Amino acid sequence: MIVGRYAPSPTGSLHLGNLRTALAAWASTRSRDGRFLLRIEDLDGDRCRPELIDRQLADLRNLGVDWDAEPIIQSQRTDVYTAEFEKLKRFRLVYPCFCSRRDIAEAASAPHGPGPGVYPGTCANLPATEVAERIAAGRQHCWRIRVEAAPTTFFDALIGPREIDLKREGGDFVVRRADGWFAYQFACAVDDALSGVTEVVRGADLLDSGARQAWVLDRLGLPVPRYLHLPLMLGENGARLSKRVGSEDMDGLTARGFSPDSVRSYLAWTLGLCGTGERITMSEVASRWDWKRVPQGDFHHQDAILETFR
Ligand code: GLU
Repeated sequence: MIVGRYAPSPTGSLHLGNLRTALAAWASTRSRDGRFLLRIEDLDGDRCRPELIDRQLADLRNLGVDWDAEPIIQSQRTDVYTAEFEKLKRFRLVYPCFCSRRDIAEAASAPHGPGPGVYPGTCANLPATEVAERIAAGRQHCWRIRVEAAPTTFFDALIGPREIDLKREGGDFVVRRADGWFAYQFACAVDDALSGVTEVVRGADLLDSGARQAWVLDRLGLPVPRYLHLPLMLGENGARLSKRVGSEDMDGLTARGFSPDSVRSYLAWTLGLCGTGERITMSEVASRWDWKRVPQGDFHHQDAILETFR
């Protein structure tokens, strides 16, 4: 049984690129009569806006995306993540890190440091007594997972094998933040595995996350889903679409007179499923779905083509 999912963060309204990814994830699953799940990734309290959840779900429903169970809400699953996290602690795969951002930036760019953006391993091997003292003194700390033994090749079912050396790509990464919340990499991996997801379709900007999440799951002895990272949809000018700017979201498109049917058909066209101006239903999206039809490489939004679907 194929189990797919879409996992938006309620940090803004879904833009055309997000909707395209959702449509692809849905179609890939439904084309093989799979189960499709929805998960709200709302762990980043500073950036998430709960009032956007209903709007995102409504946009997906309007497009025709449906799902088979109540959406999973990450902010309600701390117990689940804690149980898995305790396993990593028992295996001594995670350690508390007391570094501030500034400590890390300075150590990383020092003459023998690993370079900008890579955790230099400052707290990786602190003596247990030192750790206990710092924790007893109430020092703020996050928890990082060791990546020294991680494989350096990540396999993506769409892109193929890719060299991703986690030691050089950021190093030991955060699984639990200093404020106690679990980090995206950890929660996402655990949720995919525990909800039986077999196939993860999402934007290619998360390819490195695939390597991190596969590593977490491997260490936990949980099943690793098949990953397919879809090339991104960019704006006409080649710039990244942004949820926060509200560029090309459903409300904006509706205000410009595009119906959900026309938006879906345009997105289906960008995925190689229909001709310009051709209206296509959700069941046709599923029955025509074929990964081989999906254009390779980033896709530039084309307003003139969108117009043909009016
Ligand atoms: N929540 C992430 C986002 O909205 C996507 C995570 C995923 O699909 O794994 O960008």
